[in-house]
Amino acid sequence: MKFARFLKGTQSRIGIVNADDNAIRPLHVDLNDLHDLFGRNDLQSLVATAGDEIALKDVQLQAPIIPRRNIICVGKNYRAHAKEFATSGFEAGAVKGAEIDEFPAVFSKPPSTVIGTGATVELHPGATSSVDYEAELALVIGKAGRNIPAEQAFDHIWGYTIINDVTARDRQRNHKQWFLGKALDTFCPMGPWITTADEVRSNDLQVQCWVNDELRQSASTSDLIFDIPTLIATISAGLTLQPGDVIATGTPAGVGIGFTPPRFLKSGDEVSISISGLGTLSNRFE
Ligand code: MG
Repeated sequence: MKFARFLKGTQSRIGIVNADDNAIRPLHVDLNDLHDLFGRNDLQSLVATAGDEIALKDVQLQAPIIPRRNIICVGKNYRAHAKEFATSGFEAGAVKGAEIDEFPAVFSKPPSTVIGTGATVELHPGATSSVDYEAELALVIGKAGRNIPAEQAFDHIWGYTIINDVTARDRQRNHKQWFLGKALDTFCPMGPWITTADEVRSNDLQVQCWVNDELRQSASTSDLIFDIPTLIATISAGLTLQPGDVIATGTPAGVGIGFTPPRFLKSGDEVSISISGLGTLSNRFE
């Protein structure tokens, strides 16, 4: 099942998406947010009583979830990307020959970065002149847990979505720690919806990213250095993951700083990210 949040008039609603028909059916329950669906075992009956189909082109999709805590992100989790980043000049403290980390690099983006598909990403001239894209598979936690063993990790995942981990490369480099380069308003497009975990084989999904009509990134999640169970076990060690937490799994090679000279985003660019079975997330930069 694919659940989305959308605007109908001025009201935000939750709906079930029929991706084949490009349509959505509003749920007939008063839900503020997808958080209200976690732990419910009556999803099938909620869906069965949903309203009539509305064409997706006639609604405004919003970010499928409003995170209550920072989005947890993993850096340098595809080999070719770790190498392009280390040699780009934008990785503070990069050491030649040590591009692949022994432990995952983890940082976060505040909830204020999150926008939906179709919304505009701000380029923030004055704060940065090097805005870049990062296509990523993200997972949504549905069941709380601390010290989650890798072999139980999938029990805690409710669904999957796409994020664009938009990054101000100059701030990422200059401030040593990545938060300031990753945390600018609108820097986390998310969506178009969340696909429930039962429909997703997350260890072999194709991640693709286009800037305007040019394919820039194309890789499989089978290439992750640290796989999803390892990430959940690592992150939840001593840190209780909560339902609604979003974990982004890292980006493949092909970002703007992978080119010589770097190809940063400019006003009017459109970045579209598709992941097998999860839909397409598209945002214009301005
Ligand atoms: Mg990233």
